[in-house]
Amino acid sequence: MSEGAIVPSTDATRRLRALDKAHVWHPFTQMRDWLAADPLIIAAAEGNRLIDTDGVSYLDGVSSLWTNVHGHRHPRLDAAVRAQLDKVAHTTLLGLGSEPSIELAARLAAIAPQGLTRVFYSDSGSTSVEVALKIAFQFHRQAPAHLGGDARRTRFLSLSNAYHGDTVGAVALGGMDLFHAIYAPLLFDTLKAESPHCYRCPFGRQAGDCGRECIAHVEDLFARHGHEMCAAVVEPLVQGAAGMLLQPPGWLRRVRELCDAHGVFLVADEVAVGFGKTGTLFACEQEGVTPDFLCLAKGISGGYLPLAATLTAERVHDGFLARHEELRTFFHGHTYTGNPLACAAAIASLDVFEEERVMERLQPKIARLAARLETLRDLPHVGDIRQRGVMTGIELVRDRETRESYDMALRVGHRVTLEARRRGVIVRPLGDVMVLMPPLSITDEEIDLLVDATGEAIRAVTERGATGGLDGLAGLDRLPGASGPAGA
Ligand SMILES: *Cc1c(COP(=O)(O)O)cnc(C)c1O
Repeated sequence: MSEGAIVPSTDATRRLRALDKAHVWHPFTQMRDWLAADPLIIAAAEGNRLIDTDGVSYLDGVSSLWTNVHGHRHPRLDAAVRAQLDKVAHTTLLGLGSEPSIELAARLAAIAPQGLTRVFYSDSGSTSVEVALKIAFQFHRQAPAHLGGDARRTRFLSLSNAYHGDTVGAVALGGMDLFHAIYAPLLFDTLKAESPHCYRCPFGRQAGDCGRECIAHVEDLFARHGHEMCAAVVEPLVQGAAGMLLQPPGWLRRVRELCDAHGVFLVADEVAVGFGKTGTLFACEQEGVTPDFLCLAKGISGGYLPLAATLTAERVHDGFLARHEELRTFFHGHTYTGNPLACAAAIASLDVFEEERVMERLQPKIARLAARLETLRDLPHVGDIRQRGVMTGIELVRDRETRESYDMALRVGHRVTLEARRRGVIVRPLGDVMVLMPPLSITDEEIDLLVDATGEAIRAVTERGATGGLDGLAGLDRLPGASGPAGA
């Protein structure tokens, strides 16, 4: 097995590539670009490395889209799925219980912020958000006043740049025009708050020299609309898909206070930030916040199987208790909800967190990552480096002084991804923000490789003299059919 080297493709790889191009429509991918390139095809994995069909091994620098928190083929998780397979692969939660879904719900309630005792299962981050939306909305349509039900509360607040998934309800909450604008006629109306984002402050201020306008701004929105709001939906601490935007300390805490003062639910979408990635098991912990809804997916099953959970409080659940014919039931449920194999993997993942003291052992790795990232700070086209826990965004800009972005058609982030791949590392950009999201199981040596390879790749793409370097905007060569905003 070779590391990241370019080796001639085997016949088997060529066959798979041809079939992929003939039949697979890839997500978030401009297929014209895809069809013009030779895609990497993954066949196996070992620990924190992915292995392609030609036997080349790569560091999985984004935990296979932010999911494989313990790496791949962890013996504990492998064994748990196999053991469950010897019992049953799938049974339904519609009308029946199942062992793993019960055990997991109890475990989640025990580790989540205090008071989140009810667990509703679904299959993806998007559905975990849809479930929170619909429960919050239905609660206010039907719950008695003594529980806080108020039918006038129909509106949702979310952030500009928000990303909560790709189903239509989640898209209505979303604020990334790049992904969402075209669907506008299909979406329900939401209130939008500006994302707190110090590098590109929407209020034109500089980090460390501001009047916390981002807080005054949400205070104002609550003062005007608090009475009609059903829920505020936020990604706590880090807006992931928006490009790893970091909230200033105290912002989330203040939103919780405002929700309390105005009787508004707080929905914490921890699909990206949950399960250790910000340095605590859940991001809300860092601000001492308990949300009314906690949406979990991505890392929940250790990246083994599709699974999501929406946790909520007893009071919310109580708002749905009634005689059958009163029709206060939550009429929602996906076919594979609470799938036993997925729940078994999730239980094993929680066991690994405990037995391997994952969060404790992560802290020095976060520090090492931070120190190593400092070495990239002076690269001429690195505008900003944002890190919380292992979640990292390196924003590349045409001009550091003015913070001017590159022309989208140059696909700078995508080019850096390809260069990093040649150096043995898989990363994936969000536009021109290079995202590093290593598994929590990453080793010191792998941290160094991840950052160094990414740094070299950035140099190769953005600096004069390097092969294919863009040198600012001069001498640009557009990639064939360049157009994809979402990166590779
Ligand atoms: C990825 C993501 C989602 C959507 O999850 P899917 O499993 O892709 O549906 C929702 N919210 C956040 C914050 C995410 O990062």
